[in-house]
Amino acid sequence: MNSKLLENYYRNFFPCNDLCRWLNLGIDLKIDDSTTRKSYFERREFVFYYHGDIYCRHISFSSADELKEQLIHDKPEKFGIGAVYSLPPKLRNRKQKKIKYEPVEREFVIDIDMSDYDKVRTCCSGAVVCQLCWKFLELAWKTIDNILKELFGFKVNLWVFSGRRGIHCWVCDSEARRLSDFERKSLIEFLNSGPNFSIYILNICRAIFNNRFEEIIVKDQKLFENQERLDECVKIINSQLGTTLKFAAKGTSEETWAEILDFINSQLDQQKIDEIKNKIYFSYLYPRLDIYVSMEISNLLKSPFSVHPKTGNISIPFLVELAEEFRVDKVPNLVGLNAGVDDLAPHIKVLNIISDKLKECCRKKRNRKTANFDTQNYVPKL
Ligand SMILES: [Zn+2]
Repeated sequence: MNSKLLENYYRNFFPCNDLCRWLNLGIDLKIDDSTTRKSYFERREFVFYYHGDIYCRHISFSSADELKEQLIHDKPEKFGIGAVYSLPPKLRNRKQKKIKYEPVEREFVIDIDMSDYDKVRTCCSGAVVCQLCWKFLELAWKTIDNILKELFGFKVNLWVFSGRRGIHCWVCDSEARRLSDFERKSLIEFLNSGPNFSIYILNICRAIFNNRFEEIIVKDQKLFENQERLDECVKIINSQLGTTLKFAAKGTSEETWAEILDFINSQLDQQKIDEIKNKIYFSYLYPRLDIYVSMEISNLLKSPFSVHPKTGNISIPFLVELAEEFRVDKVPNLVGLNAGVDDLAPHIKVLNIISDKLKECCRKKRNRKTANFDTQNYVPKL
């Protein structure tokens, strides 16, 4: 990675103050210098990654300027964010009065990678993401965001395109930040089990997936022109009906799907018809979650506005409402920024919207005097 470009990025384009405000619960470090607020940011772990898989954990900073100076000086290829600890990570080896160094808070994070969609796409594979692939991520984005809002009341969700093949969600609400490892594991497994176990998730998916199966799987991906891929779908029908049915992929994907649909609709039991269709829709379109990223409070995740070392793209926040307008070929990158072609401003605005929401959510929380949230007795709002 070109270190001159990196240095230039950190010096001239990287929105350091905005990122630090988000990491400080929406409060500007420069305006509000009360000790308690600042100490929140100071206790946040950063990790810097260098060429050749070298990384440095447990770095921390006292101000946005300090972070910016260090980035310009070290020029890491990318950097990540960890938990807020009981002590500033850089002071962890100093003898403290009986304070154990441990993670105390961290956004609940979700990672969705396009490489996990290879079985249901034909346009690309692996880390490649085109505009057709993006439709899967767009659905994943909407589905998970809706579930978090409707079922758990988590409203401050920052969504970020990682710069290459995936999207990340940072759930910033107080209750989410204070989840224990056990609760994080339970929550991500619940989200991953999806419509199989929850009628609530089933209903949310029904509204979002409406007609998108035909568009994405049948037309865009032309999945049923391929016998092997078709067999996978027929397997679902056979398992639902206890049959040993076979379909041949001899026509277009649309023709084969019409044939399958005719067969499903010919069943006498309407409930069974719905069940089979739902089973098919969900197994193709339900978000593929990389659940291990979410499980532990001390896990690291690449920061928004960090560079992706393989593409030079910047990881950018994006609004769920605008997911359909997202263009994977228009993601700002180091070269484009340097040439004055790309612009980070719309994405900085998104981060600031989330910071404002976060500040408001923390203010309400303080007013309700419920700051001592009891994570042990936390019950998701179902
Ligand atoms: Zn593609």
